[in-house]
Amino acid sequence: MNIYLDRYKAVLCDLDGCLISGNMVLPGARELVARFGDRLIAVSNNSTDTPITLSHRLAELGLSISAGRIVLAGSTAIDILAREFSGARVAIFGSPAIRSYAEASGLVLADMDAELVLLTRDVGFSYEGLTQISNMVRSGASLFVANLDGTHPAQDGGVVPETGALLAAVATCLPNLRYRSIGKPDEVMFKLALELSGATAQEAVFIGDNPDTDGEGARRMNIAFAHIGGSLFTTVQDLVMTSD
Ligand SMILES: [Mg+2]
Repeated sequence: MNIYLDRYKAVLCDLDGCLISGNMVLPGARELVARFGDRLIAVSNNSTDTPITLSHRLAELGLSISAGRIVLAGSTAIDILAREFSGARVAIFGSPAIRSYAEASGLVLADMDAELVLLTRDVGFSYEGLTQISNMVRSGASLFVANLDGTHPAQDGGVVPETGALLAAVATCLPNLRYRSIGKPDEVMFKLALELSGATAQEAVFIGDNPDTDGEGARRMNIAFAHIGGSLFTTVQDLVMTSD
C-alpha cells in the first residue's frame, strides 16, 4: 500500500530512527517538517526530555517543531500521574528535566516511602536506585514506567539502553512485578496526538521505524502506518518523495 501524506489531516511521526538519530538529522526529516509541519505531531517514547527541552534541541538541529506538537512518554507519564494522583508522593527515577517537570506539575517528589514510583530512562540508574525501587514497590508503591523498550539505536550504530532494560533489573528482583507502561504501543499517546491534531484515526497516518511499538500502536488505533526501514520506505525521504 502506498501512502500519500497529502491525503492525511494529521501526520504523526516517531522521532528516533525517523527524523533524528542522536544529534544527527536523518534524510527527509527537514523536508517533512517544512512541507507537513502544520499537521505534524511528534510522538516518541523519549523519557529524558520534556516537550520544551526537546523542541529547543530540535530547533538547534534545524527542525522547527513546537513543544505543543510533541508527545513524549516521560512527560505524558507525569501528566497522567499529576491528573490521576494529585498530591501523591512520587519517587521519580529520571533526568533533572523530568524531575523539574514533575514538580512543576504539582507532584510531591519523594526519595523514600513513596506511594508511586515512576521509572524513566534514568542515565544515573544505580545499584542504590534499584534497591530503592524494588523495596518501595515491594512495600506497596505502584510502579509506572515510561516505556518497555529495551534499547534505542545510537547514532554510531550501537545501542542506547532504554527504560525497559532498567525495568528488567527491577523485575529480576521482584518476579511477580506489576506495572503500567505509558509509552508506545500503549494507546494513550496515540489518543493524545489525535486530540492535539483534531483529526480522527482515519484521517491520520503514523510514521515509525519500530513495528513493535509504532506499528502495533497504530494498528490498535486503526491508524495507517508508514514503516520506515520497511520494504517501501528506507527513510522518511522516500515517503516524502512518494507524496510529490
Ligand atoms: Mg524510532
